[in-house]
Amino acid sequence: MEKCQTCKKDESTIRYGEERFCLTCYNTLMTEELGVEATSYPKSLSIRDGLGEVHRYRLRKRLDPIGVIMEAEEQVEEGGYFFQLSGDIDCDQEKLLMKLLAKAEKGMAEAYVEEKLFEDETTYHGLRNERLAGRIEWNPAAEEIPLLVVDGKPYMWEQIGKLLMHYEGFQLKMEILDPGEEIEWNKDK
Ligand SMILES: [Zn+2]
Repeated sequence: MEKCQTCKKDESTIRYGEERFCLTCYNTLMTEELGVEATSYPKSLSIRDGLGEVHRYRLRKRLDPIGVIMEAEEQVEEGGYFFQLSGDIDCDQEKLLMKLLAKAEKGMAEAYVEEKLFEDETTYHGLRNERLAGRIEWNPAAEEIPLLVVDGKPYMWEQIGKLLMHYEGFQLKMEILDPGEEIEWNKDK
């Protein structure tokens, strides 16, 4: 990873024009340009999923000409939940954080995949509620075929395919959403 071109200390994570910045230096630059400061916020915290399991998150806040962008990224080696939310540049940043945490809680409330047992006691992946949502990720093992992160865990495309074969003949609906949007279902299950 390249170093930030301003402080020459931290890793650069943001490209702006020709330059590369760390989050802190980028926000400082945006404060100069936009006249808005990033208020302080917890850099990490834990949230429980619908099954009571604790997930550790790193939080990030980025000021941007289009608004304030907040992200919660689960700290795990592979996959992990990721939630993003943006507000107007002059929004209440405390409220934005609260909304992001509410979005994360809601996004983790339902587990889609569960391990089921065949009669001979071997296990297979099945759908808990006949539906599934997740995130499309780059697959280092097969660049043209994505990984799908479901319930914060990475699944190979073939695993998702196998899981769907339990529903041969059924219909399927698929919809792509922007990272900042919220996944909503017609019915609660
Ligand atoms: Zn920097």
